[in-house]
Amino acid sequence: MKKGTYKDLTGQKYNRMTLLSLDRIDGHARWLCRCDCGKEVVVRGHEVVSGKIKSCGCFSRERKVERITAWSKLPYKEKGLSGRKRSDGYIYLRRPDHPAASTEGYVAAHRIAAEEKIGRLLKQNEVVHHWDEQPTNNAPANLCVFRSNSPHFRLHLYAKRHGIKIETLKFDQPWLCLSN
Ligand SMILES: [Zn+2]
Ligand SMILES: [Zn+2]
Repeated sequence: MKKGTYKDLTGQKYNRMTLLSLDRIDGHARWLCRCDCGKEVVVRGHEVVSGKIKSCGCFSRERKVERITAWSKLPYKEKGLSGRKRSDGYIYLRRPDHPAASTEGYVAAHRIAAEEKIGRLLKQNEVVHHWDEQPTNNAPANLCVFRSNSPHFRLHLYAKRHGIKIETLKFDQPWLCLSN
């Protein structure tokens, strides 16, 4: 297709994107755009005009942070952390915006609660332990995060071998966890 069949959008602004110049045509007219944040990207012009693309990506990132922040400000009871449990004994929350969400958009509630407690996202191999061994009790004081399952397993083994309730180790061996 000839360049002339495309509308000249030079200098037009839609949402955060200003169209600077036609970059190339391959099936669609691709425009070099400058986002309000200063980043320049090449995207399909018609998607900018239709509003499908609103920014370089900074807009949706900001919205995501806003949603997570709004949720974390909710009182504990309203976070839904004590919702219905699944067959594996854990509670799952629908949080499609969460980086660790399953393909269906769910995240284990105890992992979200632990993230709240330690103030950052959990790494994939980090394990959340429930001190009272009730997988639905996601109160912050009941949770502790282990670097991996190996020290977590050792804790359970230690309690079993010595015939003691695991909860009694909470204060005796706090160094086992990142946070308790
Ligand atoms: Zn941007
Ligand atoms: Zn455990």
